[in-house]
Amino acid sequence: MTDRTFIPAAKPIIGDDERAAVDRVLRSGMVAQGPEVAEFEREFADRMVAGRRSVAVNSGTSGLHLGLLAAGVGPGDEVIVPSFTFAATGNAVALTGATPVFVDIEPETFSLDPVAVEAAITERTKGVMPVHLYGHPARMRELVEIAERRGIQLFEDAAQAHGAELDGRRVGTFGRFAMFSLYPTKNMTSGEGGMVACADADLERSVRLLRNQGMERQYENEVVGFNARMTDIHAAIGRVQLTKVDAWTEQRRDNAALLDARLTGVVVPPVAPGARHVYHQYTIRVLEDRDGFAAALRDEHGIGSGVYYPIPNHRLPSLAPYAPGLELPETERAAREVLSLPVHPSLSAADLDRIVDAVNALATAGA
Ligand SMILES: *Cc1c(COP(=O)(O)O)cnc(C)c1O
Repeated sequence: MTDRTFIPAAKPIIGDDERAAVDRVLRSGMVAQGPEVAEFEREFADRMVAGRRSVAVNSGTSGLHLGLLAAGVGPGDEVIVPSFTFAATGNAVALTGATPVFVDIEPETFSLDPVAVEAAITERTKGVMPVHLYGHPARMRELVEIAERRGIQLFEDAAQAHGAELDGRRVGTFGRFAMFSLYPTKNMTSGEGGMVACADADLERSVRLLRNQGMERQYENEVVGFNARMTDIHAAIGRVQLTKVDAWTEQRRDNAALLDARLTGVVVPPVAPGARHVYHQYTIRVLEDRDGFAAALRDEHGIGSGVYYPIPNHRLPSLAPYAPGLELPETERAAREVLSLPVHPSLSAADLDRIVDAVNALATAGA
């Protein structure tokens, strides 16, 4: 190893503006959900999802759960989801009492394979929820068409895809609802938090009710609901980050373009025609001994990396009972091969040089 500093796989950027915003809220004495949350919702709607009504919640997972409940998903229903994603996708379906039906991905986008989706539709299917994994849009042209023709709802797990687009259209504007996570490792953060972008006023109202004990008017609880509110402290951080995320995304895209041009001997992330990738992760495939490759990157070169995700959801002890005996070959292959390299906006030119040199050396060595 060398004396060079370690390059982490991800690095949240929290600056003076965020600190000042939190201080402003703390000094106001009103720290729970209030005016900052309302402003954050309006600003997020305008800047991120073409004006779609947005509801802030306390986590991305809550956003998925409340969105699904508001869309009428419940016991006896099925929702088609990928297995190659963070467990929150399937968890949210299971928490409604519905069954997550795991289908395979296609290898280019790492997102739901439309042919497999169509084959999995039954009379119980209430919806399909693609994940825009790593910040690359899922196959929305095909999925919109299938959902309309087969009469099922389309939902979006856009946790990793703030600002991603397909054919000039923002992700988060295709489905009945879309969830964006605001967890610190995502492309923008509020500390913890999530945003639910809603296609219609009925859905928006339901999510708002479910977020706050089923109340629109104080103590007149209409439905059984949660406390999934965002605080003004978190919203103040998110509002600052929202003004910066476009510049950060451009930096991610520049970093990715440099890696694309200079990496050799590994499979760089494909971008589908018409897609705008926001590189939440820059994910290569390492065809032989991915884990050895990652260990060498860390130990010999001081470079962090991540495997998202090593265990497909249908193999997790928590979610496997929903998928007895299921085989998803592309999902299993991706889980063995993927490796996400640092692409975050804090990387320097020297950091990027080090990443390129290390990956190319290891790939040549057949590590
Ligand atoms: C992060 C993430 C979530 C959950 O978001 P939280 O804010 O952590 O609850 C859901 N789905 C995917 C694909 C994610 O990456």
